[in-house]
Amino acid sequence: MATKNISLESALSGFPDAIQTELRDALLKGGVIPSELAFSWINKLNIDIGALMIKLLPVAKAYARAPISKFYVGAVALGMPPSGSIIGPGNLYLGSNMEFPNESLSLCVHGEQSAVNHALIQGETGLQSLAINAAPCGYCRQFLYEITTAKTLNILLKKDQDQESCSYTEKPLSYYLPDAFEFQNSDQKEKGLMETESHHLSITSKEALAQAALSGANASYAPYTKDYCGVALMGENNQIYTGRYAENVAYNPSMSPMESALAYMNMNLPAQANLKITAASLVEVSNSISQKDVTEAVLSSVAPSVNLDYILAK
Ligand SMILES: [Zn+2]
Repeated sequence: MATKNISLESALSGFPDAIQTELRDALLKGGVIPSELAFSWINKLNIDIGALMIKLLPVAKAYARAPISKFYVGAVALGMPPSGSIIGPGNLYLGSNMEFPNESLSLCVHGEQSAVNHALIQGETGLQSLAINAAPCGYCRQFLYEITTAKTLNILLKKDQDQESCSYTEKPLSYYLPDAFEFQNSDQKEKGLMETESHHLSITSKEALAQAALSGANASYAPYTKDYCGVALMGENNQIYTGRYAENVAYNPSMSPMESALAYMNMNLPAQANLKITAASLVEVSNSISQKDVTEAVLSSVAPSVNLDYILAK
C-alpha cells in the first residue's frame, strides 16, 4: 500500500508538454476534460479513449485525501457520447477518495463515487465507462449499479504495474456484481441515479448559499426515502460548491449531500488545496430520515468553526 500520494506535478509529467498545458487549464476550470480535447489527445498520443483514461488516473489520484487509510484512489469517468456538432468520445470527469479525520469511516467518499458525482453535477445523465486504479469495492459496485447506464457500464482497470503502460482490462459492471441487490418492488425505483431530477421544492430564504443548497435538493436522487436534500458550501472568494443526495437501493452506499458537496469542491480546487469553508447550508424535506446530524459531524471535522444553516423545504 502506498503511504505517500503522487504529486500533481509528477502525475502531469507523464504527458507531453503541449498536452500538459491543456490539461492544467482543464484542471483549473473544474477538472472536466471536454470531449473535443479528449479526442485531440487520443489522436496526438495514438491511443484509445480507455488508455487515455488509464493515463489520467495518476492525475485524478493526486487529488485524493486519505489521511487515515493512506490508500489513494483516482477515478476517471467517461460521460455519454456527445450530440450535435461536438466530436470525440464524451467528456471525462476526474474523481478521488476523501477521508475525514476524527469521523466515522462510513462518512468517507470513495473515488468512484467522486467521479460519478462530478459527472452528475456537471449535467451528465449516464456514464459509458469508469477507470479506477484498483478494483471497485463491494460498496461502490452497488453504488454504480444505481446509475441509469449500469447495465452497459464498463469498468477499466490498469493491467500491469509498469508506470508507463496504459494497457487495461475492460469488463462490464455485471462481471464485478453478478447478483446486484434490488428491491422486489421495483416501483420504488423511479429512473436511476443521473436521470435529471426536479422536485419543485421551495424555501423562503433568498440568500445565495441557501438557494444553491435548494438547487441541490431539487436535483437530488432519493427514490426510496424521498429525503430530497442538498448542501452548499461557501469557499474562498465566495465561491459556492453545491452537492446533492444520491440514494442507493441498498441504503448504505448512498452518498450524502455533504459528501457530494465536499467531493465536488475537492475536484474543483487545485490538488490538495486547503478546503477552506466559511459557511454551509443544508436544505432538505422533513421526512423519515435526516441528513442534519451527519452533515454537522463532517462539518465539525473539515470546518470546526462553521455552524450549519439548516433549512426545511416545502
Ligand atoms: Zn469503493
